Amino acid sequence: MEGKMILQEAQGFLDELQEIRRTLHQHPELGFDLKFTKPYVKQKLEEMGYDPIEMGKAGLVALAGGKKPGKTILLRADMDALPIKEEAEVSFASKEEGKMHGCGHDMHTAMLLGAAKLLKNHEDEIEGTIKLEFQPAEEIFQGSPDMISAGLLENPKVDAAIMLHVVAGMPMPAGVLMVPGGGISAASCEQYHITVKGKGGHGSTPNNCIDPITAAAQMHIALQEINSRELDANAYGVFTTCRFEAGMTSNVIPDTAKMWGTIRTVDPENEIGEYIKKRMSEICQSIATAFRCEAEVEYYDYCPCMVIDTELSQKVLGYAKDLLGQGAMDMTSITGGKAGGGSEDFAFVSHHVPTVSMFITAGNSEEGYLYSQHNPKVRFDDSMLYYGSAAYAYIALRWLKEQA
Ligand SMILES: [Zn+2]
Ligand SMILES: [Zn+2]
Repeated sequence: MEGKMILQEAQGFLDELQEIRRTLHQHPELGFDLKFTKPYVKQKLEEMGYDPIEMGKAGLVALAGGKKPGKTILLRADMDALPIKEEAEVSFASKEEGKMHGCGHDMHTAMLLGAAKLLKNHEDEIEGTIKLEFQPAEEIFQGSPDMISAGLLENPKVDAAIMLHVVAGMPMPAGVLMVPGGGISAASCEQYHITVKGKGGHGSTPNNCIDPITAAAQMHIALQEINSRELDANAYGVFTTCRFEAGMTSNVIPDTAKMWGTIRTVDPENEIGEYIKKRMSEICQSIATAFRCEAEVEYYDYCPCMVIDTELSQKVLGYAKDLLGQGAMDMTSITGGKAGGGSEDFAFVSHHVPTVSMFITAGNSEEGYLYSQHNPKVRFDDSMLYYGSAAYAYIALRWLKEQA
């Protein structure tokens, strides 16, 4: 199939894509709780002639093709929103208090539904199978592992996987597809939570209390030693306590002090992350003992680093250039091949099958799209949605054809 044709075809139903995206934008939902979104997406797929199956806690999978023998490629969109109050000035703002599609997952879902429509129209040309994944709970890094354990990568077995993420607030025209080179493109991430338990009481009699604040402050300082004194200078491992909470007022020693933070590495095996955790627990326990407190250190919501398959990324970049010409670019020209600090739970898939995670621009800062994802003021330029739909469909079709 001609790239130009598929782009034109997708452009022909841009209105429909914008309508879908704006409807989803008005109904943002969190995590696995997709009471509006999942049935809405399912219905759209059924209207196109798909037979979507529910997978895991709140996911959907639909298959395109399968009439001709061949391999299977997975295309993913995530569907969940963020627990932030929308401050963007858009006519289709969130109707859900304290929830917002601030990462653009409404854009992703609309783009993949557009790809589903294109692929249905060209089903006879699919040389193998295209598995369309609509995933919940990306923002808490739980949706992808949940769907994998529910069988995402089997029946049919997935041979390659592709995802797309929008970016706003960059000085670039909307609809430019960026393909990273092989290697690690995003850091791992794991949350930690430290609770220091002491014994509260009157601020005038610290001798009758056990102050958890001084112990927690010692821990905060001591933990810096891991970064500065214990990690190899070439090892990328960073952790940051971003929330420190204790006490309610000026004359009461509290019972507890708490810290929250994240650990990030670019180590696919996460040995650095495991080392940091081991030392973090040891240091916190030892300091707690020294200051007569108790410490509890918990780790949760781990997401590994994203591993991009070199061969697949070269092929995908080639197909993207055939489709979009100058509108497709090698992302290493911007990143220098270095991993970004942000994390993405599709990384779990990248540890099982060759994966490429692409980005597409959706809001030029020079045209007033000033904010980037996760900002309560972020706006996305949805006139580019058809580029994303065409890219998903065309890249999958080309890859399968080449493998046949
Ligand atoms: Zn996000
Ligand atoms: Zn996102």
